[in-house]
Amino acid sequence: NKVITLKSRPVGIPTQDDFGFTEESIPEAQDGEVLLKIKYVSVDPYLRGRMRDEKSYIEPFKVNEPLESGIIAEVVESKNKNFKKGEYVNGMLKWKQFQTSNGNGLNKVDRNKAPLRAYLGVLGLTGITAYLGLEKIGNLKKGETLLVSGAAGAVGSVVGQIGKIKGCNVVGIAGSEEKTNRIQEEFGFDMAINYKTTDNMYKAIADACPNGVDVYFDNVGGEILDAALANMNKYGRVVCCGAISLYNETKTPKGPRVETKLIKNSLLMQGFTVRDFVKDFGPAQKQLAKWMEEDKIKYLETIVEGFDNIPKAFIDLFDGKNKGKMIVEV
Ligand code: NDP
Repeated sequence: NKVITLKSRPVGIPTQDDFGFTEESIPEAQDGEVLLKIKYVSVDPYLRGRMRDEKSYIEPFKVNEPLESGIIAEVVESKNKNFKKGEYVNGMLKWKQFQTSNGNGLNKVDRNKAPLRAYLGVLGLTGITAYLGLEKIGNLKKGETLLVSGAAGAVGSVVGQIGKIKGCNVVGIAGSEEKTNRIQEEFGFDMAINYKTTDNMYKAIADACPNGVDVYFDNVGGEILDAALANMNKYGRVVCCGAISLYNETKTPKGPRVETKLIKNSLLMQGFTVRDFVKDFGPAQKQLAKWMEEDKIKYLETIVEGFDNIPKAFIDLFDGKNKGKMIVEV
Protein backbone atom coordinates (compact mmCIF):
# COMPACT_ATOMS: atom_id res chain seq x y z
CA ASN A 1 0.00 0.00 0.00
CA LYS A 2 1.95 3.00 -1.30
CA VAL A 3 1.71 6.37 0.45
CA ILE A 4 2.93 9.84 -0.62
CA THR A 5 3.85 12.31 2.11
CA LEU A 6 5.06 15.89 2.27
CA LYS A 7 8.76 15.37 2.95
CA SER A 8 9.67 19.04 3.14
CA ARG A 9 7.92 22.36 2.62
CA PRO A 10 8.79 23.53 -0.93
CA VAL A 11 10.65 26.77 -1.46
CA GLY A 12 9.64 28.23 -4.83
CA ILE A 13 8.38 25.71 -7.38
CA PRO A 14 7.93 22.29 -5.69
CA THR A 15 10.30 19.51 -6.75
CA GLN A 16 10.12 15.70 -6.52
CA ASP A 17 12.43 15.89 -3.48
CA ASP A 18 9.68 17.61 -1.50
CA PHE A 19 7.63 14.39 -1.61
CA GLY A 20 8.20 11.20 0.37
CA PHE A 21 7.30 7.73 -0.93
CA THR A 22 6.59 5.12 1.74
CA GLU A 23 4.63 1.89 2.12
CA GLU A 24 2.35 0.57 4.82
CA SER A 25 0.06 -2.44 5.12
CA ILE A 26 -3.48 -2.31 3.77
CA PRO A 27 -5.80 -1.45 6.68
CA GLU A 28 -8.87 -3.49 7.58
CA ALA A 29 -12.29 -1.88 7.66
CA GLN A 30 -13.73 -1.85 11.19
CA ASP A 31 -17.45 -1.78 11.99
CA GLY A 32 -18.98 1.34 10.42
CA GLU A 33 -16.07 1.75 7.98
CA VAL A 34 -15.36 1.16 4.32
CA LEU A 35 -12.09 0.16 2.68
CA LEU A 36 -11.38 2.38 -0.32
CA LYS A 37 -9.10 1.85 -3.30
CA ILE A 38 -8.30 5.15 -4.98
CA LYS A 39 -8.86 5.43 -8.72
CA TYR A 40 -8.68 9.07 -9.90
CA VAL A 41 -6.72 11.76 -8.07
CA SER A 42 -7.27 15.47 -8.65
CA VAL A 43 -4.15 17.62 -8.41
CA ASP A 44 -4.90 21.31 -7.93
CA PRO A 45 -2.92 24.56 -7.70
CA TYR A 46 -4.38 25.40 -4.26
CA LEU A 47 -2.55 22.41 -2.74
CA ARG A 48 0.61 24.52 -3.03
CA GLY A 49 -0.85 26.90 -0.44
CA ARG A 50 -1.45 24.01 1.96
CA MET A 51 2.24 23.13 1.74
CA ARG A 52 3.12 26.40 3.47
CA ASP A 53 3.04 26.54 7.23
CA GLU A 54 0.65 29.46 7.44
CA LYS A 55 -2.89 30.16 8.51
CA SER A 56 -5.42 29.98 5.69
CA TYR A 57 -9.00 28.94 4.98
CA ILE A 58 -7.83 25.33 5.12
CA GLU A 59 -5.35 23.50 7.41
CA PRO A 60 -1.73 23.32 6.19
CA PHE A 61 -0.32 19.87 5.42
CA LYS A 62 2.02 18.44 8.03
CA VAL A 63 5.56 17.38 7.16
CA ASN A 64 5.96 13.58 6.93
CA GLU A 65 2.19 13.09 6.84
CA PRO A 66 0.28 11.90 3.74
CA LEU A 67 -1.00 14.57 1.35
CA GLU A 68 -4.64 14.66 0.33
CA SER A 69 -6.85 16.01 -2.44
CA GLY A 70 -10.17 15.37 -4.16
CA ILE A 71 -10.23 11.69 -5.09
CA ILE A 72 -12.61 9.18 -6.69
CA ALA A 73 -12.29 5.80 -4.99
CA GLU A 74 -13.91 2.38 -5.22
CA VAL A 75 -15.47 0.79 -2.16
CA VAL A 76 -13.69 -2.57 -2.02
CA GLU A 77 -15.08 -3.68 1.33
CA SER A 78 -17.95 -2.24 3.37
CA LYS A 79 -18.92 -2.50 7.01
CA ASN A 80 -20.94 0.72 6.70
CA LYS A 81 -24.62 0.34 5.84
CA ASN A 82 -24.61 3.44 3.63
CA PHE A 83 -22.08 2.08 1.15
CA LYS A 84 -21.93 -1.11 -0.90
CA LYS A 85 -18.92 -2.92 -2.26
CA GLY A 86 -18.32 -1.87 -5.87
CA GLU A 87 -19.74 1.65 -5.47
CA TYR A 88 -17.64 4.70 -6.25
CA VAL A 89 -17.28 7.72 -3.98
CA ASN A 90 -15.79 11.20 -4.21
CA GLY A 91 -14.12 12.83 -1.23
CA MET A 92 -11.09 14.54 0.24
CA LEU A 93 -8.85 11.47 0.58
CA LYS A 94 -5.22 10.72 1.33
CA TRP A 95 -2.58 9.98 -1.28
CA LYS A 96 -2.61 6.29 -0.25
CA GLN A 97 -3.58 3.47 -2.58
CA PHE A 98 -5.86 1.96 0.09
CA GLN A 99 -7.45 3.64 3.13
CA THR A 100 -10.42 3.25 5.40
CA SER A 101 -13.12 5.83 6.05
CA ASN A 102 -16.13 6.10 8.33
CA GLY A 103 -18.05 7.59 5.41
CA ASN A 104 -18.04 11.20 6.61
CA GLY A 105 -17.50 13.57 3.70
CA LEU A 106 -17.88 10.85 1.06
CA ASN A 107 -20.34 11.40 -1.78
CA LYS A 108 -21.45 8.57 -4.02
CA VAL A 109 -20.87 9.15 -7.72
CA ASP A 110 -22.88 7.53 -10.47
CA ARG A 111 -20.77 6.31 -13.36
CA ASN A 112 -23.91 5.81 -15.45
CA LYS A 113 -24.66 9.54 -15.39
CA ALA A 114 -21.20 10.78 -16.32
CA PRO A 115 -17.67 9.38 -16.58
CA LEU A 116 -16.21 9.10 -13.06
CA ARG A 117 -13.45 11.61 -13.83
CA ALA A 118 -15.99 14.32 -14.64
CA TYR A 119 -16.80 14.46 -10.92
CA LEU A 120 -13.32 15.87 -10.31
CA GLY A 121 -13.62 18.36 -13.17
CA VAL A 122 -16.63 19.92 -14.78
CA LEU A 123 -19.14 18.29 -12.38
CA GLY A 124 -16.79 18.67 -9.42
CA LEU A 125 -15.26 21.58 -7.57
CA THR A 126 -13.59 23.09 -10.63
CA GLY A 127 -16.80 23.32 -12.68
CA ILE A 128 -18.72 24.50 -9.64
CA THR A 129 -16.05 27.17 -8.97
CA ALA A 130 -16.41 28.45 -12.53
CA TYR A 131 -20.19 28.50 -12.35
CA LEU A 132 -20.61 30.03 -8.89
CA GLY A 133 -17.75 32.54 -9.23
CA LEU A 134 -19.41 33.91 -12.35
CA GLU A 135 -22.92 33.70 -10.93
CA LYS A 136 -22.32 35.13 -7.47
CA ILE A 137 -19.69 37.76 -8.23
CA GLY A 138 -19.43 38.17 -12.02
CA ASN A 139 -23.14 38.95 -12.49
CA LEU A 140 -22.56 38.44 -16.19
CA LYS A 141 -25.10 39.90 -18.61
CA LYS A 142 -25.80 39.10 -22.23
CA GLY A 143 -23.69 41.09 -24.67
CA GLU A 144 -20.94 41.92 -22.15
CA THR A 145 -17.25 41.20 -22.63
CA LEU A 146 -15.85 38.48 -20.38
CA LEU A 147 -12.09 38.13 -20.05
CA VAL A 148 -10.70 34.99 -18.37
CA SER A 149 -7.12 34.00 -17.56
CA GLY A 150 -5.95 30.41 -17.12
CA ALA A 151 -8.41 29.99 -19.96
CA ALA A 152 -7.35 26.54 -21.12
CA GLY A 153 -7.31 25.16 -17.58
CA ALA A 154 -9.96 23.30 -15.63
CA VAL A 155 -11.78 26.32 -14.20
CA GLY A 156 -11.01 28.79 -17.02
CA SER A 157 -12.23 26.58 -19.86
CA VAL A 158 -15.60 26.17 -18.14
CA VAL A 159 -15.84 29.90 -17.35
CA GLY A 160 -15.37 30.78 -21.02
CA GLN A 161 -17.97 28.29 -22.19
CA ILE A 162 -20.52 29.58 -19.67
CA GLY A 163 -19.78 33.07 -21.01
CA LYS A 164 -20.70 31.88 -24.50
CA ILE A 165 -23.89 30.21 -23.23
CA LYS A 166 -24.83 33.57 -21.67
CA GLY A 167 -24.32 35.35 -25.00
CA CYS A 168 -21.14 37.22 -24.13
CA ASN A 169 -18.07 38.15 -26.06
CA VAL A 170 -15.41 35.89 -24.50
CA VAL A 171 -11.66 36.46 -24.58
CA GLY A 172 -9.24 33.96 -23.01
CA ILE A 173 -5.63 34.27 -21.87
CA ALA A 174 -3.43 31.14 -21.91
CA GLY A 175 0.22 30.14 -22.15
CA SER A 176 0.71 28.50 -25.56
CA GLU A 177 -0.46 28.76 -29.13
CA GLU A 178 -1.87 25.26 -28.96
CA LYS A 179 -4.01 26.36 -26.01
CA THR A 180 -5.14 29.65 -27.57
CA ASN A 181 -6.11 27.82 -30.77
CA ARG A 182 -7.91 25.11 -28.90
CA ILE A 183 -10.07 27.36 -26.76
CA GLN A 184 -11.20 29.22 -29.85
CA GLU A 185 -11.76 26.19 -32.07
CA GLU A 186 -13.21 23.75 -29.55
CA PHE A 187 -14.74 25.93 -26.86
CA GLY A 188 -15.99 28.85 -28.95
CA PHE A 189 -13.95 31.64 -27.31
CA ASP A 190 -14.11 34.69 -29.59
CA MET A 191 -10.47 35.67 -29.13
CA ALA A 192 -7.45 34.40 -27.23
CA ILE A 193 -4.15 35.91 -26.12
CA ASN A 194 -0.93 33.94 -25.55
CA TYR A 195 0.58 35.76 -22.57
CA LYS A 196 3.93 34.06 -23.02
CA THR A 197 4.56 35.63 -26.44
CA THR A 198 2.96 39.02 -25.70
CA ASP A 199 5.18 41.78 -24.35
CA ASN A 200 2.42 44.33 -23.75
CA MET A 201 -0.54 42.63 -22.06
CA TYR A 202 -2.38 45.92 -21.56
CA LYS A 203 -2.39 46.55 -25.32
CA ALA A 204 -3.14 42.92 -26.20
CA ILE A 205 -6.25 42.99 -24.00
CA ALA A 206 -7.29 46.41 -25.36
CA ASP A 207 -6.96 45.06 -28.93
CA ALA A 208 -8.85 41.84 -28.16
CA CYS A 209 -11.61 43.68 -26.24
CA PRO A 210 -12.43 46.79 -28.31
CA ASN A 211 -15.46 47.48 -26.10
CA GLY A 212 -13.47 47.13 -22.88
CA VAL A 213 -13.84 44.39 -20.26
CA ASP A 214 -17.03 44.07 -18.19
CA VAL A 215 -16.09 40.97 -16.21
CA TYR A 216 -12.56 39.69 -15.58
CA PHE A 217 -12.41 36.18 -14.12
CA ASP A 218 -8.92 36.00 -12.67
CA ASN A 219 -7.18 32.66 -12.19
CA VAL A 220 -3.61 33.94 -12.19
CA GLY A 221 -3.18 37.33 -10.47
CA GLY A 222 0.09 39.28 -10.88
CA GLU A 223 0.88 41.23 -14.04
CA ILE A 224 -2.02 39.80 -16.02
CA LEU A 225 -4.41 41.10 -13.36
CA ASP A 226 -2.70 44.52 -13.52
CA ALA A 227 -3.22 44.64 -17.30
CA ALA A 228 -6.83 43.49 -17.04
CA LEU A 229 -7.68 46.09 -14.37
CA ALA A 230 -6.45 48.85 -16.66
CA ASN A 231 -8.94 47.67 -19.32
CA MET A 232 -12.08 47.46 -17.18
CA ASN A 233 -15.29 49.29 -18.09
CA LYS A 234 -17.36 51.36 -15.68
CA TYR A 235 -19.13 49.09 -13.16
CA GLY A 236 -16.90 46.17 -14.19
CA ARG A 237 -16.57 43.13 -11.93
CA VAL A 238 -13.30 41.38 -11.13
CA VAL A 239 -13.77 37.82 -9.90
CA CYS A 240 -10.63 36.88 -7.92
CA CYS A 241 -10.65 33.09 -8.13
CA GLY A 242 -6.94 32.21 -8.16
CA ALA A 243 -3.48 33.74 -8.28
CA ILE A 244 -1.29 30.91 -9.54
CA SER A 245 1.42 33.32 -10.73
CA LEU A 246 2.10 34.11 -7.06
CA TYR A 247 1.82 30.67 -5.46
CA ASN A 248 5.53 29.84 -5.74
CA GLU A 249 6.86 33.31 -4.98
CA THR A 250 8.95 33.60 -1.86
CA LYS A 251 8.27 37.36 -1.68
CA THR A 252 5.05 38.87 -2.98
CA PRO A 253 6.04 41.03 -5.97
CA LYS A 254 4.91 44.66 -5.91
CA GLY A 255 2.65 45.94 -8.68
CA PRO A 256 0.88 49.15 -9.60
CA ARG A 257 -1.67 50.37 -7.07
CA VAL A 258 -5.27 49.55 -7.90
CA GLU A 259 -7.38 51.92 -5.83
CA THR A 260 -7.71 54.73 -8.35
CA LYS A 261 -8.73 52.24 -11.03
CA LEU A 262 -11.38 50.80 -8.75
CA ILE A 263 -12.70 54.25 -7.83
CA LYS A 264 -12.62 55.83 -11.29
CA ASN A 265 -14.55 52.99 -12.88
CA SER A 266 -16.72 52.01 -9.89
CA LEU A 267 -15.31 48.49 -10.08
CA LEU A 268 -16.22 45.58 -7.85
CA MET A 269 -13.31 43.28 -7.03
CA GLN A 270 -14.12 40.25 -4.90
CA GLY A 271 -12.27 37.12 -3.91
CA PHE A 272 -13.92 33.87 -2.90
CA THR A 273 -13.29 30.26 -2.14
CA VAL A 274 -15.87 27.96 -3.61
CA ARG A 275 -16.75 26.63 -0.16
CA ASP A 276 -18.27 30.05 0.61
CA PHE A 277 -21.16 28.90 -1.57
CA VAL A 278 -21.51 25.33 -0.36
CA LYS A 279 -25.29 25.51 -0.14
CA ASP A 280 -25.45 26.26 -3.87
CA PHE A 281 -23.36 23.24 -4.94
CA GLY A 282 -26.39 21.06 -5.75
CA PRO A 283 -28.10 23.45 -8.18
CA ALA A 284 -24.74 24.40 -9.72
CA GLN A 285 -23.86 20.78 -10.39
CA LYS A 286 -27.33 20.16 -11.83
CA GLN A 287 -27.00 23.06 -14.25
CA LEU A 288 -23.51 21.98 -15.33
CA ALA A 289 -24.73 18.41 -15.90
CA LYS A 290 -27.61 19.71 -18.01
CA TRP A 291 -25.28 21.82 -20.16
CA MET A 292 -23.01 18.81 -20.55
CA GLU A 293 -25.92 16.64 -21.67
CA GLU A 294 -26.97 19.31 -24.15
CA ASP A 295 -23.39 19.39 -25.43
CA LYS A 296 -23.13 23.09 -24.54
CA ILE A 297 -20.16 22.45 -22.26
CA LYS A 298 -17.31 20.28 -23.37
CA TYR A 299 -14.57 19.30 -21.07
CA LEU A 300 -10.96 18.77 -21.51
CA GLU A 301 -8.68 16.74 -19.27
CA THR A 302 -5.07 15.69 -19.06
CA ILE A 303 -4.71 12.20 -17.63
CA VAL A 304 -1.42 11.10 -16.08
CA GLU A 305 -1.02 7.38 -15.36
CA GLY A 306 0.30 5.89 -12.15
CA PHE A 307 0.17 6.54 -8.39
CA ASP A 308 3.89 7.43 -8.28
CA ASN A 309 3.30 10.25 -10.77
CA ILE A 310 0.91 12.23 -8.54
CA PRO A 311 3.65 14.69 -7.41
CA LYS A 312 4.91 15.16 -10.97
CA ALA A 313 1.40 15.87 -12.26
CA PHE A 314 0.99 18.45 -9.48
CA ILE A 315 4.35 20.12 -10.24
CA ASP A 316 3.51 20.20 -13.97
CA LEU A 317 0.51 22.47 -13.26
CA PHE A 318 2.96 25.31 -12.66
CA ASP A 319 4.49 24.72 -16.06
CA GLY A 320 1.17 24.66 -17.88
CA LYS A 321 1.59 21.02 -18.94
CA ASN A 322 -2.14 20.40 -18.50
CA LYS A 323 -4.98 21.21 -20.82
CA GLY A 324 -8.18 21.23 -18.83
CA LYS A 325 -8.39 19.26 -15.60
CA MET A 326 -5.19 17.54 -14.49
CA ILE A 327 -6.05 14.06 -13.16
CA VAL A 328 -3.94 11.08 -12.17
CA GLU A 329 -5.34 7.64 -12.92
CA VAL A 330 -4.02 5.20 -10.37
P1 NDP B 1 -5.60 24.88 -14.18
O1 NDP B 1 -6.21 23.69 -14.82
O2 NDP B 1 -5.95 26.23 -14.74
O3 NDP B 1 -4.03 24.66 -14.16
C1 NDP B 1 -3.17 25.67 -13.85
C2 NDP B 1 -2.79 26.52 -15.10
O4 NDP B 1 -2.28 27.75 -14.67
C3 NDP B 1 -1.68 25.91 -15.93
O5 NDP B 1 -2.17 24.98 -16.86
C4 NDP B 1 -1.05 27.13 -16.58
O6 NDP B 1 -1.62 27.36 -17.86
C5 NDP B 1 -1.45 28.29 -15.66
N1 NDP B 1 -0.27 28.90 -15.03
C6 NDP B 1 0.70 28.28 -14.32
N2 NDP B 1 1.61 29.18 -13.89
C7 NDP B 1 1.19 30.39 -14.34
C8 NDP B 1 1.70 31.72 -14.24
N3 NDP B 1 2.83 31.98 -13.57
N4 NDP B 1 1.02 32.72 -14.83
C9 NDP B 1 -0.12 32.48 -15.51
N5 NDP B 1 -0.66 31.24 -15.66
C10 NDP B 1 0.00 30.22 -15.07
O7 NDP B 1 -5.97 24.90 -12.64
P2 NDP B 1 -7.41 25.05 -12.00
O8 NDP B 1 -8.39 25.31 -13.09
O9 NDP B 1 -7.63 23.94 -11.09
O10 NDP B 1 -7.26 26.38 -11.15
C11 NDP B 1 -7.18 27.66 -11.79
C12 NDP B 1 -7.06 28.73 -10.71
O11 NDP B 1 -8.25 28.76 -9.94
C13 NDP B 1 -5.91 28.49 -9.74
O12 NDP B 1 -5.30 29.72 -9.44
C14 NDP B 1 -6.61 27.91 -8.54
O13 NDP B 1 -5.89 28.12 -7.37
C15 NDP B 1 -7.93 28.63 -8.58
N6 NDP B 1 -9.04 27.93 -7.92
C16 NDP B 1 -9.74 28.64 -7.00
C17 NDP B 1 -10.81 28.08 -6.38
C18 NDP B 1 -11.58 28.91 -5.41
O14 NDP B 1 -12.39 28.35 -4.67
N7 NDP B 1 -11.37 30.20 -5.35
C19 NDP B 1 -11.22 26.69 -6.64
C20 NDP B 1 -10.46 26.05 -7.70
C21 NDP B 1 -9.40 26.67 -8.30
P3 NDP B 1 -0.88 28.24 -18.99
O15 NDP B 1 -0.25 27.26 -19.94
O16 NDP B 1 -1.99 29.01 -19.58
O17 NDP B 1 0.16 29.09 -18.30
